[in-house]
Amino acid sequence: MNACVWCGRRLGGVVTVSQLWRWGPLIRSAVCRACQTRLTPISSQHCPQCGRQQTDETVCRDCQRWSGRPLVNHAVYVYDAAMKAYMQQYKFQGDYTLRRVLQEPLRLALAKETYDVLVPIPVDQATWQQRGFNQVTGWLQTQPFQQALLVQATRKAQPQSAKDRAARLRTAQPFTLAPNAASLLTNRRVLLLDDVYTTGRTLRHAADQIYLGGAKAVTSLTLAR
Ligand SMILES: [Zn+2]
Ligand SMILES: [Zn+2]
Repeated sequence: MNACVWCGRRLGGVVTVSQLWRWGPLIRSAVCRACQTRLTPISSQHCPQCGRQQTDETVCRDCQRWSGRPLVNHAVYVYDAAMKAYMQQYKFQGDYTLRRVLQEPLRLALAKETYDVLVPIPVDQATWQQRGFNQVTGWLQTQPFQQALLVQATRKAQPQSAKDRAARLRTAQPFTLAPNAASLLTNRRVLLLDDVYTTGRTLRHAADQIYLGGAKAVTSLTLAR
């Protein structure tokens, strides 16, 4: 019997009307109904630049402080206690089955984005060895993507999550372009994909490199903000 990948409770075989109408193979949800409501989707009231949930649709103070080329980010969920607990179990405890919790929400979010090439933010060698997977590509199912970015091997061992805001903003460019990047990026609209938008520093470093690779537009999508 199928169990919810998040809480382990048994999943009922509930078939929705939309599934019946499609006449296709039934897609079984990986997550029970209770767990589906644990995360908080970001509403239409969000910062138009970074996607942060707020009470109006003005550019937030953090975004006003960025200079240079603006980066528009869309985010799916609020980074609250439930999302933090999810990321802790998935990323830091390395529970790879939990990727299935966000696969369907990400598929729906990607369908709303306009882009030619999807570029996930890579993980560095040390993280790869410790975790064994890239948390971002784990959420992708059949969607095509390109690893146009590489992480420099000299990147410091301290993870972004262990730094305060000021230290994060000072972070040096960690990315380089993959050898075939120009052929993938030239004149294309690129969507960067990452797990959490915190200060936006990582995504802006990535966007800078993608523009150097010849992209005509760069936007980003994160699972949480
Ligand atoms: Zn559950
Ligand atoms: Zn903002």
